[in-house]
Amino acid sequence: ATPTALLVGTGRGAQLGILIKGPEVLESTRTVDTIVLDKTGTVTTGRMTLVDVVTAAGTDRAELLRLAGALEDSSEHPIGRAIALAATREIGALPDVESFQATAGVGVSGVVESHAVVVGRESLLADWAIHPDADLVAAKDRAEAEGSSAVLVAWDGRARGVLVVADRVKATSREAVAQFRQLGLHPVLLTGDNETVARRIAAEVGIDRVIAGVLPHEKVSVVRELQAEGRVVAMVGDGVNDAAALAQADLGLAMGTGTDAAIEASDITLVRGDLRSAGDAIRLSRRTFGTIR
Ligand code: ADP
Ligand code: MG
Repeated sequence: ATPTALLVGTGRGAQLGILIKGPEVLESTRTVDTIVLDKTGTVTTGRMTLVDVVTAAGTDRAELLRLAGALEDSSEHPIGRAIALAATREIGALPDVESFQATAGVGVSGVVESHAVVVGRESLLADWAIHPDADLVAAKDRAEAEGSSAVLVAWDGRARGVLVVADRVKATSREAVAQFRQLGLHPVLLTGDNETVARRIAAEVGIDRVIAGVLPHEKVSVVRELQAEGRVVAMVGDGVNDAAALAQADLGLAMGTGTDAAIEASDITLVRGDLRSAGDAIRLSRRTFGTIR
């Protein structure tokens, strides 16, 4: 393509809500054959709501919400936001935390009202040598089988409950995936969330290939492995945990509604946070290069 065609291409992109870092980006876009999609905030709205609270025998619901809510009030993760908001609504002002630590992809821990509180995946509790009773694990598994995300709550060395949050697929995601297929792209769902939830969301939008339970720093390895298979990979994401993978991908696309880290690591920003814009970007580039009409 001539420099003029490239400039026209990037200009047309801006009209479509696709911000392209430089004209040269369109070149790699052309040959992409695989599109890796982050789940939370990319395929789904990322706006989670607390839908269920399960308490272990002898645990007070209000105390569970107060301690977990106070801790999550310091978290920027959609799951944390949902828990803190619901806790505030139900019990009012939350206590201050005395310390807080977020461990990407697994959960949060800290001290609230002198209790050592942990909220997150079973693996995070295990790091604290906390092993939930079978009934709590069963409650968590049940929620996940229904397609929700469930996190365990523990304090002072004991698991005390399960908080269930649910997210929704964006209205446009299914159509976007159908467009990717029409463009000859192989869609892959990549998430830190568990396999059950991931499969459920994937089925809803029409994706067959799911890579779940991936820790934030492993997302980049997944992209590398696909590239090693000879695939030319586009990746769409929104989170801090997606940034390295977005940079590694042959083409990184960030949701404009996402984090600055994701936007900075990407070649293209989808201003409206609409997954269909990713297909528009690839179609535009192929047109610019005259590969399709
Ligand atoms: P995704 O790849 O879908 O954006 P993440 O890697 O951000 O998901 O998170 C993976 C998992 O880590 C979540 O499903 C949850 O179990 C746990 N987790 C992450 N952050 C938190 C938090 N603030 N509170 C509780 N659990 C969390
Ligand atoms: Mg995300």
